[in-house]
Amino acid sequence: MMCCSHLAALGLLAQHEPLAPHTTLGIGGCATWWFRPEHEHALLQAMPMITKDMYIFPIGRGSNVLIADSGIDGLVLDLSDLNTLEVSGNTLFAGAGVRMGKIAQLAANSGLSGLEFMATVPGDLGGGVAMNAGAFGQQVSDVLQSVTVLYRDGQVQNLSRRDLDMRYRYTALPQGALILSATFELSHADAASVKQTMRSMRLKRSETQPLSLPNCGSVFKNPEGDFAARLIESVGLKGKQIGNASISDKHANFIVNQGDASCEDVLRLIRLATSEVKKATGIALELEVKLVGCSL
Ligand SMILES: Cc1cc2nc3c(=O)[nH]c(=O)nc-3n(C[C@H](O)[C@H](O)[C@H](O)COP(=O)(O)OP(=O)(O)OC[C@H]3O[C@@H](n4cnc5c(N)ncnc54)[C@H](O)[C@@H]3O)c2cc1C
Repeated sequence: MMCCSHLAALGLLAQHEPLAPHTTLGIGGCATWWFRPEHEHALLQAMPMITKDMYIFPIGRGSNVLIADSGIDGLVLDLSDLNTLEVSGNTLFAGAGVRMGKIAQLAANSGLSGLEFMATVPGDLGGGVAMNAGAFGQQVSDVLQSVTVLYRDGQVQNLSRRDLDMRYRYTALPQGALILSATFELSHADAASVKQTMRSMRLKRSETQPLSLPNCGSVFKNPEGDFAARLIESVGLKGKQIGNASISDKHANFIVNQGDASCEDVLRLIRLATSEVKKATGIALELEVKLVGCSL
């Protein structure tokens, strides 16, 4: 049993919380428990109150997850109030809950380069590190110095980038580790030109991605030397609709929610794209989006 009254004193606690509104795709059933600690210290105090066998799922902006219609049997941990953000010299420190767009803006205002791409990625710092987010030739691992993580037993540890074996959209986080914060080492640059770079990245995004409909970003990783979108388009699936979900007719590596789509609608599109691309090209597409409580 969780000590609910004690947890509720440390942040926002809800039972049977609908998860769809916590994701950019707008899909997902309820979480048994949902907890948003009011700051880092509250989370440290809360950890021992959560029963050891309770599954904990950390969520950021929910911008790269597909959550089952049956929801999550466990505790969804929302770290958006871990929102410290500071710059000192060329070092930037951010808490897990800071939006990446805000981080990019502070870096730009401080005349620091290396995180411009974050202006175009809708997630939070924790999700960005966990996914090794990147775009336009930059990625988190290029400039990450260290992360602080919390384990189920309450232990806090500082890990350097080398400990995390970061690769394209992959971070080897230790089992059960929750990212609390991260530190980046950036390069000094002219603030106006950093801002200009961010503006052109944003413009490119709005021209090429279906940003007016709920989506979860890239569904598949790009295979070495190719693009998932090109492969899906080449098998004629651009615009394909199943139920209320469709493969975007603007960018074939995006699946959009046309309104009330179910997780199963999206899974069926994923299965179809995977099998058609494999049949036509021999290439096995690998998921970038994280499946939570569901499987292919
Ligand atoms: C319109 C759009 C454009 C996008 N463009 C890009 C892009 O250009 N490049 C790119 O890389 N991605 C892109 N994405 C995908 C997504 O924004 C990134 O993967 C982002 O890093 C996810 O952050 P999040 O906070 O939303 O994480 P979530 O989706 O909430 O979670 C993703 C994973 O990270 C884990 N996680 C989250 N927080 C923590 C934490 N504190 N500790 C441990 N694990 C944690 C979750 O458990 C989950 O497994 C895009 C998405 C959308 C909707």
